[in-house]
Amino acid sequence: MTTNRPTATDFVQTPPTSTEGFNSLSVPTYRASTITYPNVDSFIARGSRGRHAYSYGLAGTPTSRTLADKLTALENGCDTFLTPSGLMAITVSCLAVLSAGDRVLLPETVYAPVRRFAADTLAKLNIEAHYYDPTKPVDLGAFGPELRLLWIESPGSITMEMQDIAALSKQAKDQGILVGCDNSWATPFYCRPLDLGADIVVEAVTKYLAGHSDLLLGSTTVRTNDLAGRIHAAIRALGVGVSPDDCFLALRGLETAHVRLTHVGRTALSLAEKLLQHENVTDVLMPALPSGSGHALWKQQYSGTCGVFSFVMLPDDEESYRARFARLQLMQIGASWGGTHSLIAPSPVADGRCGGRYDGKRINRLSVGLEDAKEIGADLDRFLDG
Ligand SMILES: *Cc1c(COP(=O)(O)O)cnc(C)c1O
Repeated sequence: MTTNRPTATDFVQTPPTSTEGFNSLSVPTYRASTITYPNVDSFIARGSRGRHAYSYGLAGTPTSRTLADKLTALENGCDTFLTPSGLMAITVSCLAVLSAGDRVLLPETVYAPVRRFAADTLAKLNIEAHYYDPTKPVDLGAFGPELRLLWIESPGSITMEMQDIAALSKQAKDQGILVGCDNSWATPFYCRPLDLGADIVVEAVTKYLAGHSDLLLGSTTVRTNDLAGRIHAAIRALGVGVSPDDCFLALRGLETAHVRLTHVGRTALSLAEKLLQHENVTDVLMPALPSGSGHALWKQQYSGTCGVFSFVMLPDDEESYRARFARLQLMQIGASWGGTHSLIAPSPVADGRCGGRYDGKRINRLSVGLEDAKEIGADLDRFLDG
């Protein structure tokens, strides 16, 4: 009897199961830290096979490579690198192309955590960050030959200023300056910054591409093989890796991204038009609105709008402002955006931004979800009127 009992080895090893005939439409989730090699020679030579070979789980699995390849195709780039957050896609891009003594130029409207990264980490590395007003022409020459990277985020975080990606890229290229663009708002469905001349495009995959408020991922896609080598070196040096489960969810989310974007864009535009009519609303910050500043640029460079926009209200006292949020029945209060649930959040910006235009103002940012448009509108009425 005892001789028939499984051995310890039987518990450790798993016999192969056939996958023949299992033609699923879904991308398999491959998990691994260790990758094994068929013989010792291939193991010893593993470092010399280039960045696309599988060598260790940290360097990617077929699941993460599938997501990276899909994004490369969508962005019309040369290669894509995945990071555990959108923020890290930005920080890794900066670390990959900047060295001590260099300068980086960031828009005043940049995603706020990037400012902290510049002030803390880049400053320690003796890399100087400077800021420009994205609503005005910028003289790149004024920052000297140390300027290595021009960062674009269009539209700008919270206040939605459009930037001329094509013109800025041309200007930078003429001076040998690299251009990176945060395209999280538009996604490649509405804009492809590499086609407009940028060298690096970053997506917060967390937002619309994954689309369900349940994971964090970022991507950096580059125009050239040389840049791919530099980003890859930084990713490797820092030990950046992503979860195959998150990549699977992002791949699933991507399949419906264009449908979700089209739908929320339509709802958002109708809500923005409604807000424009309200007596307590002074500005609706949405580039797709014909009355909005930046609309001409939006029409030139973007093929649509997502569901994220902001509006500015006349000042009210603290108590009545808080009461507006307490009246909400559908929209929830939270940061981040791009999911299926509608969100609203008070979103003040730093004083002095874009000439101090928003100093002391009440800005609310909306991320329109997939709920019934009329019901979202009714909730907005509760917010506005009580
Ligand atoms: C949210 C956001 C990011 C960062 O994405 P995370 O995945 O949350 O780190 C970057 N850029 C913009 C414009 C964002 O809104």
